[in-house]
Amino acid sequence: MPQPIYCGIMAALTGGSSEKLSSMRLTARQARALQRISAELQDIGLCLPGSVVVRTGRCGKTACKCRADPPRLHGPFRSWTRKVANKTVTRLLSEDQLDDYQQLFDNHRRLKALVQELEELSLAVVEADPRWRR
Ligand SMILES: [Zn+2]
Repeated sequence: MPQPIYCGIMAALTGGSSEKLSSMRLTARQARALQRISAELQDIGLCLPGSVVVRTGRCGKTACKCRADPPRLHGPFRSWTRKVANKTVTRLLSEDQLDDYQQLFDNHRRLKALVQELEELSLAVVEADPRWRR
């Protein structure tokens, strides 16, 4: 079964051959943007939501190395935070985990940017629909 996005691209590139999209015309620039966004989405790979903060710190013990001179701080702690069912979930990552996952966090950021671009493009196309003026 063909995906709607595929139909949209083909309709855009062939000048709107799809019945459903017949009143929606994309400019050449919009069609190129749709093609680029779709190609990027197809290649994006695994996407990991959330954010990672790497930090070091002092503990509460007065005689600890973290309060020595010079201080030797605890950490680094790589804490990965994300929302799950409206709750914040935090997990600590090892150094090699963060090395491996960094690309997935970057992919997720790119995914969100692409979705926003796609939404803005779609709104612009729908806004130009002549049926609004009937
Ligand atoms: Zn300490």
